[in-house]
Amino acid sequence: MKKNIVVAIDGPSAAGKSTIAKLVAKKEGFIYIDTGAMYRSVACYCRMQNVDLNDEKAVADCLKDIRIQLTQDNKVFLNDEDVTEKIRTDEVSRGSSIVSQYEAIRKFLVDSQREMAATGNVILDGRDIGTVVLPDADLKIYQIASVETRALRRYKENIERGLEADLDTIKKEIEERDYQDMNRTISPLKKADDAIVVDTSQLSLDEVVEVVLKLISKVKEG
Ligand code: C5P
Repeated sequence: MKKNIVVAIDGPSAAGKSTIAKLVAKKEGFIYIDTGAMYRSVACYCRMQNVDLNDEKAVADCLKDIRIQLTQDNKVFLNDEDVTEKIRTDEVSRGSSIVSQYEAIRKFLVDSQREMAATGNVILDGRDIGTVVLPDADLKIYQIASVETRALRRYKENIERGLEADLDTIKKEIEERDYQDMNRTISPLKKADDAIVVDTSQLSLDEVVEVVLKLISKVKEG
């Protein structure tokens, strides 16, 4: 029987991982798993319940009340509430980077990511997919872009969403999140030894998709 294909895309914030993963998943008929949305959902839940994000135990206590569902039309449900838009604010971005440092949160979400990944051909994006969640992934991509490029992309996204946007603030927040994600004790963001670096700074969306599709077709050829 043909083995399922597992594609892992890791990299820093706003490098365009989810946009690429979604497009590739659609073209290939793969299941897309947005692991960042899961950390965001935990942060969002804590905020809604007025739980102090810096209180690790209080955040971990919330896990028993949290149920996250990712649908194949890319919606995110938190305890049956559609939070797809709510989890994209800068405040939730900052919060997700805080809660993602906690061991209990990572264990809970990594377990559920592994379960989801076992269901078919999958593409996951995050920070630790190729290094921790699925170290045996068939294809590992480390997607990067300059801070300037990433800040500008996030700025445009925010404007399109009708959210507040200030380029300098966004750039500063991206740098802060990079630092936090790369320097945390548990599962810090780093390139897996066998990951292929794709720098998207000078590439269009279509070009990046093309690169990833070619890499997948090599995996299929075996
Ligand atoms: O990818 P996204 O920006 O939505 O992720 C939000 C935050 O969740 C990241 O800044 C990171 O702290 C955390 N995260 C993580 N591990 C993952 C995915 C996201 O720690 N696999």
